[in-house]
Amino acid sequence: MPTLIPAPDFVTFARANCAQPDSNPEHWHSDDPKELATAINTCHDCPLKAPCATYATTHNLTGIWGGLTRAQRNGTTDDTTVHPHDDDWIDDTGRTRRACGTHGAYQQHRRRAERCDRCETAQAARVREGRLNLLADAHAIGGTEQGYYTHRRLNERPCDLCKGAMRRASAERKAQRDAEKNATRAIYEPAA
Ligand code: SF4
Ligand SMILES: [Zn+2]
Ligand SMILES: [Zn+2]
Repeated sequence: MPTLIPAPDFVTFARANCAQPDSNPEHWHSDDPKELATAINTCHDCPLKAPCATYATTHNLTGIWGGLTRAQRNGTTDDTTVHPHDDDWIDDTGRTRRACGTHGAYQQHRRRAERCDRCETAQAARVREGRLNLLADAHAIGGTEQGYYTHRRLNERPCDLCKGAMRRASAERKAQRDAEKNATRAIYEPAA
């Protein structure tokens, strides 16, 4: 005979945020991250947050209870994995977050030490594009030393133009050092 789970009387209390007429109970069990975020946000300042989470943990319930997912209640997630969002959304601290894939979302994840594959992939693509633009500029002026290092960061062999620019720049630095050395020597070893 299955164990009967007593209905939690607190959810019928008028005090529960989710019992207010403007909340949609389906959001607490939705697959849509935006709806889940709405539920989590509704729980945020609910006076029954703590007993609600305890109740759900005790009965191993799915869905959002006490503002937490089941994995969060069971401690099986470190809370640092964020699922991709296509629009601005509200996180469980009530803050507006940018849509995943944007630079803003990437920065928000970084500040919170969260992992988000989609934002990391998007950021890598932006960085790569920035490097390719930089290389195009470098090649337009016949190659540069910075271009040489940019090729390397793109995991490619530096082109002849950038290699040439790199050689010229090191030769100039060497000539500069030699000139300084000679000037120092001129001071300490005055010509007889
Ligand atoms: S914490 Fe959330 S799910 Fe629990 S009673 Fe409050 S609003 Fe409802
Ligand atoms: Zn993201
Ligand atoms: Zn080059």
